[in-house]
Parts: sequence; C-alpha cells; structure tokens
Amino acid sequence: MTEISILKIEDDTTVDGPGFRTSIYCAGCNNHCPGCHNPQSWDISNGVFTHIDVIFERIKANRFSNVTFTGGDPMCQPLAFARLARRIKAETDKTIWCYTGYTYEECLASPDKKELLEHVDVLVDGRFILSQKDESLLFKGSRNQRLVDVPKSLLTGRVQIFEYNPFPEFDDLSLVKPVRLVVEGVAV
Ligand code: SF4
Repeated sequence: MTEISILKIEDDTTVDGPGFRTSIYCAGCNNHCPGCHNPQSWDISNGVFTHIDVIFERIKANRFSNVTFTGGDPMCQPLAFARLARRIKAETDKTIWCYTGYTYEECLASPDKKELLEHVDVLVDGRFILSQKDESLLFKGSRNQRLVDVPKSLLTGRVQIFEYNPFPEFDDLSLVKPVRLVVEGVAV
C-alpha cells in the first residue's frame, strides 16, 4: 500500500477545514450518495496512482498549510492514507482533517479504517443526505454530518464534536486589557 489514486492536489484551499490547507482529492467512493457533488470521483480508476512519497513531498513543501484528505472517500484507500498520515505526523506538525461518507463508528469498527482514523485530528463523517443539505453549514454539506474530534473521541470512548473557534485568542476575555481613551489630554 504505497500508492493512492489521486484526482488532484490543491494548495492553500480554505473550504476543507480551517485556515490554509493542502487538499488531497482521491478517487474511489463506494457510498454513492444521491446528490453527490462529485460523482466522477466514485471510480477509483479515474485517478492517477501516485506514490505516497511524492504526495508527502508536495505537502511538506507547503510550510504553512495543514492537510485535508478528501475525495472521493479516503476511507476507501485506508491503508495507503494511513501510511501517508503516519509520515505527516512523524515529520511535520500539520493537522489532518479527513472527509468520509462512513460514520466515525463505522471507521472504528473496521481495522483498516481505524488505522487511518488514529492519525486524523478531525473526521468530517457521514454520507451526504440531500434532504438535509444546508449550504450555511461550515465545512460540511448536510446536517447529519459531524466534525468529530478524533483524539478526544478515542480517549473518552464517546464521540466528541470538534468546536471550531476562529478567534481562540478571545477565549478568555479577562485577558483582554481595558483600553483607556485619552481625548485631548483628558482621560475618559
Ligand atoms: S461520500 Fe462524498 S464522494 Fe462519496 S458519494 Fe457521498 S458525497 Fe460523494
């Protein structure tokens, strides 16, 4: 398992998770959700089998971007993605988000998928359900899907939802120093 069937790799995406990310779009998906945004990704032979060393070098070359695995469904090539993820975690400090049509529980129950899951920071899980489509949702397409905080979920044995906070520096407002205005020499 040294190659992944890839549709494309995009640098500095901003819609597949927070901040800038290198997004790996793989081919191959068995979920066939009605209303899928990318049905041409279902057939794994539509991608180009690419060695994980090549993919890793592309990821590493972008010093500031984190990483997203998407597709298609990365959980349909779990062992090769797990190998890539292990290398990313061993040699960089990048976070990994992974999109999949499988639920967290289904990934946990499959030894191969679990191998990938164990290296993922956030799993965007569940099939796309057209009747629950909501374009106002951040980083996901339908309301049934979840942003699962994988390390916390594995640690606690329960699904923990990742709470996205775009302004972590304002978490503790007591740390924000009051501003004292001075108007023409008079403190107000
Ligand atoms: S899991 Fe994603 S790529 Fe696969 S069919 Fe569903 S929406 Fe499409």
